[in-house]
Amino acid sequence: MFNATTVHKNISWCSYLVIQTRLKTKTHWAKLKRKTSPKYKALDHFDDFYGSVFGPKWEPMREAMLRRNKYVAVVNNYGNTEETMDYLINRGAHCLKNLISIQNDFHKEFQPKVEKSGEMKSTEEKSDKKLETFASRLQSEDIASVYPQKDSAPTRLDLADISLNSRESLMLSTEETKTPANATLDKSIEEATIDTSRIIDPSLGLTSESLYQYIPATKLKGMDDWLPESLHYSFYTKGKDFPLVIEPETEMTFPEHLKVYTYEMDSEWSMFPEPRRCNTGVFNYYPMDCGSVLSVLALCLQPGDRVLDLCSAPGGKALVALQTLLPDLLVCNDVSISRTNRQKHTFRNYLSDFDNNAKWLERVSFTRVDGRRFTDDQGFDKVLVDVPCTTDRHSITEDENNIFRPDRIKERLRLPELQAQLLANALRLVRVGGAVVYSTCALSPVQNDGPVHLALKMAFEQDSVVAVVKDLTPAFSGLSSTLRLCAGDSAPQYGQLVTPSTEANFGPSYIARLVRVK
Ligand code: SAM
Repeated sequence: MFNATTVHKNISWCSYLVIQTRLKTKTHWAKLKRKTSPKYKALDHFDDFYGSVFGPKWEPMREAMLRRNKYVAVVNNYGNTEETMDYLINRGAHCLKNLISIQNDFHKEFQPKVEKSGEMKSTEEKSDKKLETFASRLQSEDIASVYPQKDSAPTRLDLADISLNSRESLMLSTEETKTPANATLDKSIEEATIDTSRIIDPSLGLTSESLYQYIPATKLKGMDDWLPESLHYSFYTKGKDFPLVIEPETEMTFPEHLKVYTYEMDSEWSMFPEPRRCNTGVFNYYPMDCGSVLSVLALCLQPGDRVLDLCSAPGGKALVALQTLLPDLLVCNDVSISRTNRQKHTFRNYLSDFDNNAKWLERVSFTRVDGRRFTDDQGFDKVLVDVPCTTDRHSITEDENNIFRPDRIKERLRLPELQAQLLANALRLVRVGGAVVYSTCALSPVQNDGPVHLALKMAFEQDSVVAVVKDLTPAFSGLSSTLRLCAGDSAPQYGQLVTPSTEANFGPSYIARLVRVK
């Protein structure tokens, strides 16, 4: 018998099922999208890797990187300079040079007294140390599993040394690092089975989900044609068989004509308005991450310098170098024609009469050579090597042109190799007594200290080039009221790392300064 209530109930039940199925499908696709989107892949990768490198410090960095980043304003000396400075000061911005000198004076006057006062601080320091030791133990254990190869990869002890020991301890010889900890790792590697889902076959078209698993679980025996992501990490080795000296950099001075303005830490005013055209036709200031300005400061430019910017485009740092009014010659090299064109466009917007004035032709030149093969027979006074990297902030916020895209996996895994080769060539190109600055916008020790270490080794072994690593800690101490530099056990050994934080959302930027001595 026809029963309206039953039919109604059945229809409702059917629609419920349909809705459920739809909802399920929707959830499924949403999940899938989340899984396959390059920026989420990057975030997963960083959670895993940086979580183990930085321990509890990673979470606040992550939060800051997902927010809008902060800029400083580099005043254009080829525009209405005084007017621009007044404009920025009236908007509440401070001159970076003054902030640094105030902070340096403060350090000189108060730091020793503060350190002596109170037991409270020492208790805090102890618990902080405890936390850091715990984090670094986790880091050592986690990262030890990443290195599958006995010879080229650091041992458990190497990694513990990297994070726990002081800069001086880097003078250890390779022999000193061989200990029973190594044996435990080798034994577990031998006993383990191969997890093939974590191995990358380059011939597979690089679309498989497994390509995203960056840590191979075990040693990859007899699989030479396969590309394990662990290769990426094998560039972070510590064995030392070349002269390695780290000495403090105390000489750095802020270039007289460089005018950089910033808002205070934690200030609610943190964004500058769009730059405006001056009556000379160029823009009044260049907005830039403060970490990028530091790469140029670390060059310690001098009047008359002959400068090479080996990976120059789109040209922000080259523009800051020109704003110091110090170099006699700036060679801007980049392998990419489209990015070099962008750089020329920027220069036209900031350097008055760039295309027609003969002085620019003499002072600025453009080359388009693979930086690994760049040659020169005079020797440069300064070389900036701002290498291609995982551009961490971009990678977790934008899908476009993301290096975590499946079709760019090989490129990503080969970054440390490329970075080390570019830096090694820069060490050959700089004259004895000259300086090379290596920089990235990544937090990864594999792309920061790793290539620096390898390049020093390569330059020594292949060309007998010797360079001293300059510890920028004293030089950058005046920046403590402006930005956050990584300190403690997770801090890099060779360079300085600007870490993003919500109160000073600059970076990440890694900056290492090397001075050639032979
Ligand atoms: N220094 C630039 C600035 O301040 O705007 C940013 C440089 S960006 C991080 C890295 C650059 O390296 C890219 O423009 C890329 O085209 C370039 N590059 C990549 N591989 C290179 C190579 N083998 N030789 C020279 N440049 C290369």
